[in-house]
Amino acid sequence: MICQCKQCGKKFNLTEGEIEFYKSKGLSLPKRCKECRKINNNKNNSVSGKRLQTTLLLKTTG
Ligand SMILES: [Zn+2]
Repeated sequence: MICQCKQCGKKFNLTEGEIEFYKSKGLSLPKRCKECRKINNNKNNSVSGKRLQTTLLLKTTG
């Protein structure tokens, strides 16, 4: 399935597996290409990444 990225306007391909994945989770199909989603994820991870590091630290000490 060919989609057009909402963010950069590039065409990107959604595989059947990906479509199934989103449907099974009850999510709407992504409107952005992988690159833009990666950029957006990195922005989000800058906050939650710290939390992840602390949980990893707790695990190693325990
Ligand atoms: Zn894009």
